[in-house]
Amino acid sequence: MLRHFATLILLLSNFVAFAGGMHLLPPAIDAYAGMALFLLLTFGCVAVHEMGHAIAVRVHHATIKVISVWGFGYDFQARRWGMQKRMQGREIAGFVLYTSSAQHQLSKGDHALISAAGPAINLVTALVAIWSSRWFSNQMWQGASAIFATLSLGMAAANLVPFDGSDGRRILNYVRKQ
Ligand SMILES: [Zn+2]
Repeated sequence: MLRHFATLILLLSNFVAFAGGMHLLPPAIDAYAGMALFLLLTFGCVAVHEMGHAIAVRVHHATIKVISVWGFGYDFQARRWGMQKRMQGREIAGFVLYTSSAQHQLSKGDHALISAAGPAINLVTALVAIWSSRWFSNQMWQGASAIFATLSLGMAAANLVPFDGSDGRRILNYVRKQ
């Protein structure tokens, strides 16, 4: 139920970004180029989210096992790129698998911070995109940054919904146990 709600938030934000953003792009950008740009920005927004988790994992001296975006990812143990099997109880659109090292055991708070890092970096990049559009009057930039900011906010919101395996659920579990 909650997972469906999160998916709905993601779909709605993607729809708003697409429908609204396409009008902001220069007329020279046709439907195909607009679609390609939209897909690129959507992929980028998910990649940014997973990079947020990955950076937090590294800051906590833990080991990244797999980073996946849209089912495609890198397996650090097998050292290869490939399709990652979609597993139950994972977040939407992508995921990072990690383990703590023997020397640095992760606390529940560390896990919560690693979970928060994904939505947090989406919020930061959304703000940077909005802020940058004040300084770059170029119509292409205006359109792309509006699309990216909307997608990023949707990505952060969807992953904060506390469905099984989401960032929101892990943060909520941690806060509840305090
Ligand atoms: Zn996440």
